[in-house]
Amino acid sequence: MNAPAPRSLRRYAEQCLGLKKYLRQPGDGRLQPTIAAITLLWSMLVARILREVSFHAVEQLVHSANCTSLGIQRTFGDDALGYFTERLDPAVTRAALVSSLQRAKRNKAFENSRFIGLAIDGTTAGHSTQHGCAWCRPQHNAKKEVIGYSHQLATISVVGAGLSLPFDGEPYGPGDSEYAAGQRLLARAMTALGPRFADYLVVDGEYATAPFLHAADRAGIKVVARLKDNLPELSQSVERRFAAQPPTSTHRDGKDRIEIWDAPDFAPWETLHWDRVRVIRYRQHKPDGTIIQAEWLTNFSLRQVGSLSLYRIGKSRWEIENQGFNDAKNRYGLEHICHHEQNSILLVWLLTFLAIMIERLYRIRYLHRGTHRRHSADQLCRLLWLHLAGPGKLNSS
Ligand SMILES: [Zn+2]
Repeated sequence: MNAPAPRSLRRYAEQCLGLKKYLRQPGDGRLQPTIAAITLLWSMLVARILREVSFHAVEQLVHSANCTSLGIQRTFGDDALGYFTERLDPAVTRAALVSSLQRAKRNKAFENSRFIGLAIDGTTAGHSTQHGCAWCRPQHNAKKEVIGYSHQLATISVVGAGLSLPFDGEPYGPGDSEYAAGQRLLARAMTALGPRFADYLVVDGEYATAPFLHAADRAGIKVVARLKDNLPELSQSVERRFAAQPPTSTHRDGKDRIEIWDAPDFAPWETLHWDRVRVIRYRQHKPDGTIIQAEWLTNFSLRQVGSLSLYRIGKSRWEIENQGFNDAKNRYGLEHICHHEQNSILLVWLLTFLAIMIERLYRIRYLHRGTHRRHSADQLCRLLWLHLAGPGKLNSS
C-alpha cells in the first residue's frame, strides 16, 4: 500500500476520481498563461488538505517544499493565484465535483448506507472591513452604521451515507436570500446528479415553505424538513394530536431510548399543494436524563420510509453543520478571503469542497481498505506533513 504522500493524493485524484482531465483543463480563462493550470490548481488543492489556506502560504509551501513531492512542477508567486482564480470558470469545477461524486457512488463509497441524502443550508464565510465585491453584504451595529461586510452562501452536501461530502455552493449577495439561493442550488444539483443519485433532501425549518417544497417536487426528490414555529397552524395541530396520544413506537439508538409519534395525514397549509403532510415527533431520552424533542414533516409514505429511518434522516441534517461548515471553516479555511474578487471567492469555496472530497474519499474509502485502520483527518494531515519533511525516513506501514 502507498504511504500517505501528497504525490499519491494526486495520483488518487487523477486515477480513482477521474480528475486527470479536469486538473489539466479546469476552465482556465487566462489568455497567455506561462504557468500550467495544473500547477496552480493542484497547489491550491494540496495546500488546503495540508491546511495552508492563504495564497501567500501556498506560495511559501511550494517554495520551501520539494515540488515533486507535492506533485507539482514549479514554483510561482501568490499574485499568479489571484490572477488565475479571477479567470477560472466555476462551471468546470462544479462539474468536476459532481463527476467525482458519481464515480465515488459507482465505486461503492456509499454502499453500506440504505439511503443517500442531500442537505442544503446557508452559512457566512469571509468577513472584510472594506467593500470589495458584489456579494459583500453590509453588517451594521446598533446605530445602523456599516461596520464591515460578510459573504454568504447556500451549500449542498451528501449526508447520511457514511461520509459527508459538500459539493456545491451558491452565493447570495445583498437583495438576494439564502432561500432563493437554496432553490437555485437544488435545481442545479439535481440536474447535474440526475434523479436517481440521492434518495432524499433534508433541510432546516426555514426551508419548510411551499415554494421550496414545490421546488423539491419539481426536482424529483422527496424532502424531509424540520417543523418549527414558522408553520404555526401545522405545529398546533401536531401538538394537539400527539400530546393526546402515546408514542406510535419506541426504539433504542445506542444507549438512548427513542419515542416516535408518526402520523401520515395532516392537512397541508393553504399554499402547499400536497394532498397530506406526514409528520413525526421524536423524543430522545439520553442516559443522563437529557431529552431532545423535534418534529419533522415529509412527503415520504410510511411504506417508503419507516419511523426509525425517518428519525435517522432528520438527524443526518446535522452533518452539513458539523462535518460540512465546521470542518470547512476550522480545518480548511472556508472563512478566509484569499483574494477579494467575486469569481476568486467563489472558486476558492468550490476548491475547498473539492479538497475536502479528495481528502475524505482518499482517507476513508481508499486508505481504509481491508484490514487497514482508518486515519483521522488530523492523523492524515500530520502524515502528509511528515512526508514533506523527510521522505524516505518514515515507516509507511
Ligand atoms: Zn465581497
